[in-house]
Amino acid sequence: MALVVNLRHLETHNARLHGELSVAELNIETRDEVIHVTHPLQHDLEVQKFEGGLLVQGRLHLVLDCECVRCLKPFHYPLELKEWACHVPLEGEEQAPVVNDCVDLTPYVREDILLEFPRHPLCKPECLGLPKTVLGKVKSTKSKAGVGSPAWAELNKLKL
Ligand SMILES: [Zn+2]
Repeated sequence: MALVVNLRHLETHNARLHGELSVAELNIETRDEVIHVTHPLQHDLEVQKFEGGLLVQGRLHLVLDCECVRCLKPFHYPLELKEWACHVPLEGEEQAPVVNDCVDLTPYVREDILLEFPRHPLCKPECLGLPKTVLGKVKSTKSKAGVGSPAWAELNKLKL
């Protein structure tokens, strides 16, 4: 469901927007290889109309799929803006576009949620990266991989 408010409805009462914004609707370009937006954004917002603008207040929640920059482990990074507030101008140069009396709040949510993205995502603050022993194990299993390959299976059949 798109994050849209109808200005006519706001003349009489505040609007409550509660729901999810899909990955496609949110349409965030992370430009960061270790951060992926794969879950919908959950929102619970109240919109009030003022002279010349809207005041949007409430909660935003988005779980990011990240890879730890030190150990490369994938992990979930929950992003929560509990007391998010945003002013949407309806006059002047920064005026929000109005289509059929409706204003799309998605660009404002997108902009502010992007600011909360981690710069260098870590699986845990004390992550020390890949221990050398683990690296060694990965190497040794790789070198043994040939034993189970189809070529060996064929050789075994010949011996029988
Ligand atoms: Zn890590």
